[in-house]
Amino acid sequence: MNNYKKIIPIPQGESEFYWNKTSQEQLWLRKCNRCSEAYFYPRDISPCCFSRDTEWTQSSGRGRLYAFSIIYRSPNQGFQEEAPFIVAIIELEEGPRMTSNIVGVDTPSPDKLRIGMPVTVVFDKITDELSLPKFILAKS
Ligand SMILES: [Zn+2]
Repeated sequence: MNNYKKIIPIPQGESEFYWNKTSQEQLWLRKCNRCSEAYFYPRDISPCCFSRDTEWTQSSGRGRLYAFSIIYRSPNQGFQEEAPFIVAIIELEEGPRMTSNIVGVDTPSPDKLRIGMPVTVVFDKITDELSLPKFILAKS
């Protein structure tokens, strides 16, 4: 774990709860109580109407593949060691879209992925305190 060579997120006031939950293998979102809209990345003021009346809500961890790209070359050595890998935008069941990786696809290629495919969150434990949410293709 301590040989992790990629960029490590730094939990801060508004995101500390989020990172604590991902380390417990749970995905949580912020939700605006005025619009009933969930959003990502976590912040106290909602992006829909700038309300401060927001709260945490747990995501099902299920979503669909909204967009993807297969990365064959990366300027970052830590990422290059994993190439080719899939960067994806996931549209969660609750509505928000988040950028992550699709993992568990042997030798990623465009013919193995389809926009709209169902995906499920998994957690990649990168340090004792931090786990990153990533996604696998769900059985449909
Ligand atoms: Zn709102």
